[in-house]
Amino acid sequence: MADFSAALNEDQRELQQWVHKFGESVIRPAAAEWDEREETPWPIIEQAAEIGLYGFEILAEGMMNDRSGLTIPVMIEEIFWADAGIGMSLMASALAAAGIAASGTSEQLIEWVPQCYGTPGDVKLGAFCASEADAGSDVNGYRTSAVYDEATDEWILNGTKAWISNGGIANIHVVVGVVDPTLGSKGHASFIVPPGTKGLAQGQKYKKHGIRASHTAEVVLDDVRVPGRCLLGGKEKLDERLARVREGKSGNAQAAMQTFESSRPAVGAQAIGVARAAYEYALDYAKEREAFGKPIIMNQSIAFLLADMATEIDASRLLIWRASWLGKNGRFENAEGSMAKLKAGRTATWATERAIQILGGVGYTRECPVERWHRDAKIHDIFEGTEQIQQLVISRAISGLRIE
Ligand SMILES: Cc1cc2nc3c(=O)[nH]c(=O)nc-3n(C[C@H](O)[C@H](O)[C@H](O)COP(=O)(O)OP(=O)(O)OC[C@H]3O[C@@H](n4cnc5c(N)ncnc54)[C@H](O)[C@@H]3O)c2cc1C
Repeated sequence: MADFSAALNEDQRELQQWVHKFGESVIRPAAAEWDEREETPWPIIEQAAEIGLYGFEILAEGMMNDRSGLTIPVMIEEIFWADAGIGMSLMASALAAAGIAASGTSEQLIEWVPQCYGTPGDVKLGAFCASEADAGSDVNGYRTSAVYDEATDEWILNGTKAWISNGGIANIHVVVGVVDPTLGSKGHASFIVPPGTKGLAQGQKYKKHGIRASHTAEVVLDDVRVPGRCLLGGKEKLDERLARVREGKSGNAQAAMQTFESSRPAVGAQAIGVARAAYEYALDYAKEREAFGKPIIMNQSIAFLLADMATEIDASRLLIWRASWLGKNGRFENAEGSMAKLKAGRTATWATERAIQILGGVGYTRECPVERWHRDAKIHDIFEGTEQIQQLVISRAISGLRIE
């Protein structure tokens, strides 16, 4: 097992430059338009697929052949540096893929993950559907039911999922359903809803504060019947797990939480991509903008703010890289994934707000991308575990107590 190192290898540096170039030349110039349109940027996804940046192969390569854990966060930071809305459109399929990987068999992975991406010329999306209107942080509150019909070997799903990235427009929906409501989150299981399945429909599409190029909608499941093989992990394993839980032995961590835990450092990487974009823009602006006869950066109050931004971004990145390495090597001790996400989300929200301050009036207008980055940053304090949920997870890990 390799020790943790924050030094990127040559392949990772090349990948970083390659993604950066695509971000700079294709994603950034399109960002304002798709933000205003509030639509999925299909042509950009298509272009990303054509160069191999959108697809299951690059994800599999980063997940399986990188022992350092740094490849994926490096790639994500560059995409989100270019634009978080388009970035989220590219990344939400990975959340579905992670949901499949968290509890699926290798056969299920091979069958369904590629269908979350499609192929160049025929790109597709995936959606991970866990949250419900009355149950976001509190996963014990999910109501979407999953009932087994033994006669037909089918599962019947009923319920409504809320705030789902790519919800209703995805090819593959990974749905967390309640198999045994008496067991809280331990009674959950995840299901694939294949393309074209009757009864799955998009509910309301949300109008959002930020990441507006990413489609977010309700997913309504009305007597959705999926074949038995769509239960991730299979029925035998589920029955064994539920039996263990009913006997009072703890089962595996719940399906949804497993997915979120493994993806937290990646969400942190998204956040620092946005933070870095704002910091770089503010630094350049502060050197050029003159007030009272000198560039505004010549005032310590501005220069020190930029110094703090650079420091906070680097500190966040180090936490993310450490967490990614720990995750890769199975070494989490004190919820370091949650620490990384907590820090990076806060850094992005703070740095983008301060960047507007450095830019003054122009920073507040849509002439300037910093306004958009500020709106885009905030989601990183909310999804995949809010700030407070990260604090809850960390405080429980460091204290060994069931903090409420
Ligand atoms: C743009 C967007 C995209 C999303 N994409 C997806 C997706 O693809 N798939 C998916 O399943 N979900 C998705 N979500 C849902 C997201 O994960 C939830 O919104 C998030 O987990 C928070 O849940 P909630 O909105 O119900 O807030 P709540 O859980 O109601 O929380 C409200 C407030 O109370 C605080 N709070 C709650 N419990 C505690 C506690 N025990 N202690 C202290 N404070 C607490 C929270 O921190 C928060 O500040 C998305 C959301 C958005 C906005």
